[in-house]
Amino acid sequence: MHVIVTGGGIGGLSLALSLHQVGIRVRVYEAVRDPLPLGVGINLQPTAVRELTELGLGDALAETGIATQRLKLCNKFGQLIHDEPRGLAAGYRWPQISIHRGELQLMLLRAVRERIGDGNVRTGMRLRGFEQRGGRVRARFSDEDSGSDLFEEADILVGADGIHSAARRQVYPDEGVPRFAHQILWRAAIEAQPFLDGQTMVIAGHFDQRIVVYPIGKTAGGKLLTNWICQMTVPDRAPIPEHWNRRVGKEKVLSAFERWRFPWLDLPTLIERSQDIYEFPLVDRDPVPAWSFGCVTLLGDAAHPMQPIGSQAGSQAILDARTLTRALAETDDPVAALERYDAERRPAMNDIILRNRNLGPEAAMQLVEERAPSGFARIEDVISQHELDVITRSFATAAGLDVATVNHRPSYLAP
Ligand SMILES: Cc1cc2nc3c(=O)[nH]c(=O)nc-3n(C[C@H](O)[C@H](O)[C@H](O)COP(=O)(O)OP(=O)(O)OC[C@H]3O[C@@H](n4cnc5c(N)ncnc54)[C@H](O)[C@@H]3O)c2cc1C
Repeated sequence: MHVIVTGGGIGGLSLALSLHQVGIRVRVYEAVRDPLPLGVGINLQPTAVRELTELGLGDALAETGIATQRLKLCNKFGQLIHDEPRGLAAGYRWPQISIHRGELQLMLLRAVRERIGDGNVRTGMRLRGFEQRGGRVRARFSDEDSGSDLFEEADILVGADGIHSAARRQVYPDEGVPRFAHQILWRAAIEAQPFLDGQTMVIAGHFDQRIVVYPIGKTAGGKLLTNWICQMTVPDRAPIPEHWNRRVGKEKVLSAFERWRFPWLDLPTLIERSQDIYEFPLVDRDPVPAWSFGCVTLLGDAAHPMQPIGSQAGSQAILDARTLTRALAETDDPVAALERYDAERRPAMNDIILRNRNLGPEAAMQLVEERAPSGFARIEDVISQHELDVITRSFATAAGLDVATVNHRPSYLAP
């Protein structure tokens, strides 16, 4: 069996490693000629860390990222709403890893090159389209420098080419641009003194204005590379294109978040000191009724672009890769394998897309804002522990993240 993967992001590279692990021939086509460590922070949930560990990357992850131990949800004044253990502290056998997205991508890329050979990673090659005939697929790529075309035939094509997937566009030609939720995200990563215990992720605010802050790596002198995101509703703003690397001036961010200074976190100073701040619109796409079409399927953001709530996108792309590989390894019929993968993964991911539009596991923050907009003396008077547990547990179950499931499920692929 020969598989073409288009897109060398977190999902496509995890798939290439997984296919290689079970002896399936794979070639990756990535549009960017020289992938750089782009992006800021991303979180890998224990279920995804388990999969990368079973691919032999556990030590590299632990060295590069931070094993996050706690998640705190706060209101806009920094008052604590909910505090929960994460990763190892929550009883998982694998940590939650917060990591620089670009470092993670390059770590995966190095492993892919070593294992499947440089010749099977074609960079600077953009998928333009494909056709299916006689149970096989013929893909057309264009060289980003010369513009010349290259064709390759395979048994399977996997579109892991992100939110602007060319593969998805071919099977859903009328879908158009991603859905803008009238919110903007400003993001940066900066070296800073640890806040709290140096292993905590904080989300504060409410639906219309919130921050997410967490460390993603160690730097010299006991400092930590600290990821911050400021998100706010911009009702009158026209949709902006989704470029991951569009920079924005700090004045805009500072003026919106100048009051977000808590005894344990000085956000305005972090913003002030940040050199590169990126602006990204809050976007997703509607759930679709199928990912697999004959011998072509979609994976990761190409299949289920979701709002970045609950730290899911990277982890779920890795889970897609493992599920798809298992389905391919267990049958000689590629089309049946792709249908099985679709049936196993799509319903849950479609559910998460919709849950994330309503703040997913962070919905408690909006309830607290509505009930106590000026703050509170005792959180128990505003929201009960039971209500908090229902919200967070319901999301964890939907996303396949509850501790017992992750710890006790069999491996997707025998290590
Ligand atoms: C540059 C960049 C920066 C990001 N920064 C962050 C971040 O800071 N925090 C965060 O949480 N998420 C970030 N993301 C998104 C995050 O990586 C994904 O949501 C998640 O990891 C799922 O990964 P994916 O592999 O499905 O998609 P992606 O990570 O988006 O990867 C898709 C890959 O496909 C390539 N590609 C696109 N079109 C084609 C084509 N036609 N042919 C061939 N290749 C193609 C892209 O260059 C990219 O490498 C970023 C994505 C990108 C591309």
